[in-house]
Amino acid sequence: IHSSKGKGAGSGSGSGGTIAVLQDVTGQEKLEQSRREFVANVSHELRTPLTTIKSYLEALEDGALEEPQLAGKFVSVARNETDRMIRLVTDLLQLSRLDSKQAIISKESTDVAEMLDEVADRFSFQLEQRAITIDIEVVPGMKEIMLDRDRIDQVLDNLVSNAIKYTPEGGSIRIHAGLVARAHSGDQTGYSESPLLEISVQDNGIGIPKKDLSRIFERFYRVDKARSRNMGGTGLGLSIAREIVKAHGGTVHLDSELGAGTRVTFTLPYNQEEAAG
Ligand code: ADP
Repeated sequence: IHSSKGKGAGSGSGSGGTIAVLQDVTGQEKLEQSRREFVANVSHELRTPLTTIKSYLEALEDGALEEPQLAGKFVSVARNETDRMIRLVTDLLQLSRLDSKQAIISKESTDVAEMLDEVADRFSFQLEQRAITIDIEVVPGMKEIMLDRDRIDQVLDNLVSNAIKYTPEGGSIRIHAGLVARAHSGDQTGYSESPLLEISVQDNGIGIPKKDLSRIFERFYRVDKARSRNMGGTGLGLSIAREIVKAHGGTVHLDSELGAGTRVTFTLPYNQEEAAG
């Protein structure tokens, strides 16, 4: 590496090529490493509930079965852990389909305000239980937009469920939908006028430390693993949300301040023909 770098500085196209190849290898190594990490994470995430289930089954075998109340409790723990494993495997399958571009995005014309109201309805029980209020604001004049309703519902469910999970009792959540200008990107003059639909989910919960922000969309990355697990999280919600938004041609980003709250914002193409194409 040394010698080709020395030669490459300032001249020849040949040595420049060598450097490019070397960089490629590094990129591939990184990919390999993140793949290894992923497999290690998956194994660990599956092993944890399995170990729990096993120990509760053993306890039942060792006599807990004779005590109906205890037995009931143990069975329900085992059941919860099974549910977690099912959620995890379902999430993994979905990520793998999105990764391999096998996921078919089938768009339908959708009323944004109605879609957001329905998200809030799905969480009404949890919201009430934790005394968290939710406010939905859709800018007037919003037309129907083409999107894969099931998948965008999943994005919204993940974001709202996080907002609830990481916001203390009595908190508040705000969902906002509006239109923003598309960042001008060079020669696409035909599209530079068409706006983007922007939806944000904001909470006034515990927030995320600055040092974690850059990694928060990584698979299995959590600020507090124990807390996430207790809340039933798989650590894949944000990664799935990002892949679904990407598959629609949109982007997602997250702002957060520790102790003050978090806002996740995603965009989708608004222009109907483009969205449909
Ligand atoms: P999880 O299943 O753990 O919630 P996610 O991928 O949805 O996984 O989120 C990853 C991590 O990002 C969470 O474990 C949590 O630490 C942090 N996070 C996500 N949303 C919020 C939020 N609204 N407020 C605070 N932290 C959040």
